[in-house]
Amino acid sequence: MKILVVGGAGYIGSHMVKRLGQLACHVTTLDNLSAGHRDAVLCGEFVQGDMADLPLLNQVFAQGRFDAVMHFASFIQVGESVVEPAKYYRNNVVNSLQLLEVMRAHGVKRFIFSSTAATFGEPQYVPIDEAHPQQPINPYGRSKQMVEQVLADYDKAYGLKSVCLRYFNAAGADPEGQLGERHDPETHLVPLVLQTASGRRSHISVFGRDYDTPDGTCIRDYIHIADLCEAHWLALQHLSHGRGSDAFNLGNGSGFSVQQVIETARQVSGRTIMVQEAPRRAGDPARLVADATRARQVLGWQPQYADLAVIIAHAWRWECART
Ligand code: UDP
Repeated sequence: MKILVVGGAGYIGSHMVKRLGQLACHVTTLDNLSAGHRDAVLCGEFVQGDMADLPLLNQVFAQGRFDAVMHFASFIQVGESVVEPAKYYRNNVVNSLQLLEVMRAHGVKRFIFSSTAATFGEPQYVPIDEAHPQQPINPYGRSKQMVEQVLADYDKAYGLKSVCLRYFNAAGADPEGQLGERHDPETHLVPLVLQTASGRRSHISVFGRDYDTPDGTCIRDYIHIADLCEAHWLALQHLSHGRGSDAFNLGNGSGFSVQQVIETARQVSGRTIMVQEAPRRAGDPARLVADATRARQVLGWQPQYADLAVIIAHAWRWECART
């Protein structure tokens, strides 16, 4: 199978490219390297370029004759999306639309889209299933929801089949140790905690200890990057077998607090991790946990690395290799 991975040099994309290579797919990565790393693309062809570059897109599609597209190229920082919404709507929405148009022009009809739990907004209940209302509370979440809506309309009008995968908290690293998380700036909890453990940072700030949770810190559903990639592969199989467009929530269904993540990181690393109390971060719901029953039932998805200690151990190995 010939697959175009847009954003294949980023954290999730690079793990996906490696996995597709193992599955004997012919992979082409398109990435502008604004956040990704060339050396994270471990197999296939690499094209450095932007989704906004229409002639380039047309050229890549003309040469590639792809069976499917996986789209990981988006800006992901909630806070930044509030102060720079234009950046988010342009890249995450306008450029995605252009990608879909080029797919249409070249007759490519299968699309796997990286969506997010942020499309749900403030949870009305947890765990969050696919029936939960989607009312995003920031431009990042809205940008992803807009593309989900575009995809629903493109299916009806043009027969473009898609699967939207709504990630909860992606974490961990390649179980074989070749890849990991390398955001700059890093904003995610697990890598920040481990950078504190390794001595690259002096402390981890805990954003709020007055939430309505057992220890007062926010609860999230952490999902191993390898399990996330497996879900993408299963989603592609789903479309390849002629099944309809769909959307799935991806998480392990169990929540861990910020405090529990720090404790687990202490145990895994055996290091001291200094904590500093900080105010709540705007827009953080107290508790986000996925109900991924549908992904299990419809896609046959079975997470292999649901244990938080394993997720953190893989991320710790990656952190140690870099320090
Ligand atoms: N968090 C924190 N300190 C940090 C970074 C994150 O306390 O330096 C908290 C954040 O408030 C949230 C959880 O950790 O409750 C996970 O945040 P992250 O940014 O990793 O993912 P998000 O849930 O925002 O997608």
